[in-house]
Amino acid sequence: MSEIRASLKDLCFNCGRNISSSRLNGGFPCEEDLSESEIKEIREDYFLEDLYKILERKNRLYNFKKLYEIERESKEFFNFFYNVIGSEPWSIQIAWFKRLIKNNSFAMIAPTGTGKSTFIAVSSIYFSKKGKKILIILPTKVLVTQMYERIHDYMEKLKISLEVLMYSGKKEEKKRIEEGNFDILILSNQFISKNFSVLKDKKFDFIFIDDVDAFFKGSKNIEKVLMLLGFSEEDISIAKEVIDLKLKGKFDFKSKLREELENIKKKDHGTLILSSATGSVRGKRVKLYKELLDFSVGTGVSKLRNIVDTFIEDAGDFKEKVLELVKKMEDGILIFVSKEYGTEYAKDLYNFLLENGIKVGLVISKEKSSLDNIKKFSSGEINVLIGMAHHHGLLVRGLDLPTRVKYAIFIGIPKISINITKYERNLRNLLILSNVVKDLVEEKPIIDRLIKSLNRKIKRLSSEAIVLLSNAYSSGENIEDWMEYILRDVYELEKIVMKYIKDPDFLKKLDSHPSLSLRVKGEDIYLNIVDIKTYIQASGRTSRLYAGGLTKGLSVILSDDDKLLRALDARLRIYFYY
Ligand SMILES: [Zn+2]
Repeated sequence: MSEIRASLKDLCFNCGRNISSSRLNGGFPCEEDLSESEIKEIREDYFLEDLYKILERKNRLYNFKKLYEIERESKEFFNFFYNVIGSEPWSIQIAWFKRLIKNNSFAMIAPTGTGKSTFIAVSSIYFSKKGKKILIILPTKVLVTQMYERIHDYMEKLKISLEVLMYSGKKEEKKRIEEGNFDILILSNQFISKNFSVLKDKKFDFIFIDDVDAFFKGSKNIEKVLMLLGFSEEDISIAKEVIDLKLKGKFDFKSKLREELENIKKKDHGTLILSSATGSVRGKRVKLYKELLDFSVGTGVSKLRNIVDTFIEDAGDFKEKVLELVKKMEDGILIFVSKEYGTEYAKDLYNFLLENGIKVGLVISKEKSSLDNIKKFSSGEINVLIGMAHHHGLLVRGLDLPTRVKYAIFIGIPKISINITKYERNLRNLLILSNVVKDLVEEKPIIDRLIKSLNRKIKRLSSEAIVLLSNAYSSGENIEDWMEYILRDVYELEKIVMKYIKDPDFLKKLDSHPSLSLRVKGEDIYLNIVDIKTYIQASGRTSRLYAGGLTKGLSVILSDDDKLLRALDARLRIYFYY
């Protein structure tokens, strides 16, 4: 990805010829593809669509055609994902998806909880609906059953019917696998090791291997997977020969062997997606995948986010600092006020900037002019928008102005702040506290078990039922009988966690935890942790999509908490730089 962008620097992303920097910065193709008057035809909200129409009309659709198709299909996937899961996919999941539609084999290296399994389930349905054959390989039979149920749940939600088959140990399952009677097949590592003969003549368009660390323990498995992707034993032995020669430093890049390998690679074969939490797919073992599939490991994610994260410590007076930054940046600026400063602070800041001659608008819920302000910002009438750094904040979620936003300024680190002196019952906060507390106490196994069981139960609930549950917990009111058993778990968890939270000695321990900070405000103690999701989403608004890729955005954090700043930095590294 980085190389492509570098070479795009001075070249038109559509026809590949020279392009002026103003065109490039605007995200437009060169003058020959698109005249100045044609630019005016393009509506901001339909940038890709309109550009496509004009180029098609002029018979100048070159590289942009492919880019457009990828973007269009990504949008389709985005909606598909939203319909199943009820929330937007992460940018990393969209990045993975783009690799799939380009048939790029790759490894998803990301910690658990970044949505790998969700991605596997959703994209399997998506692609098999389009006629692709899918194989999912998981470490254990339990996980196989879980994935099977998950995919069925999703299909039910979407009212899609596909032939999904797993091997849970039953004879008739094996028979149906042998007959090839499936769209999506879910198997365990063990099945591949022991029953490969059943699969031998099958070919798959996509193979997902979750937890590849365990899978690679069966050394023959690597070759078996290649065969299921459409390579022959002979193909594989040629690739092995190349690897041997390369390791000895004797490979001749002009040899016949090389030519043979190139031809093998051009053969119609499926796409392989590995997933690992540790990143050990870098080892010697994947050399075969690299040779045959141009396999890449986890790179490119930071490029796909394409945002420079910066911060200012000891910024002094935030307002003065913001004014200074805004004057430098001039236009396309979003300012996110950390939640605990409140909307009052956002209004103060708004007035302050206004008094200093800045064209600025407020975007906060309950403020009627918010939507108007977004429109004004979109048309260039105002240069700056101020909103709250809140997960559901209008400015964080509700804004899609890819060609307008260039900068994000954060007033304070986006954080989740929980008053632990006067704990108000809140399901999300309870789960956050539990996860923090458990690492420091002997009762960890009990807390772990409760969290896991709760998460499992909550996952099965509809979004309406989750609201009912968390309302019942917050208000102490009764809940429908069938959900009472879940609420019991919640109270049990609360009892254990609160025992510690109320203990001053424990709080000292808590204060030394690297990823959170305790703050005293008035008579209350607040526990603060980084709201990474909000930060990524909010700062992500600055990375503007244009036809040639993503433009670079800049995010500036005015830090109000050194410890949380370091925690934020660490979290970003985990997500984006492997
Ligand atoms: Zn051009």
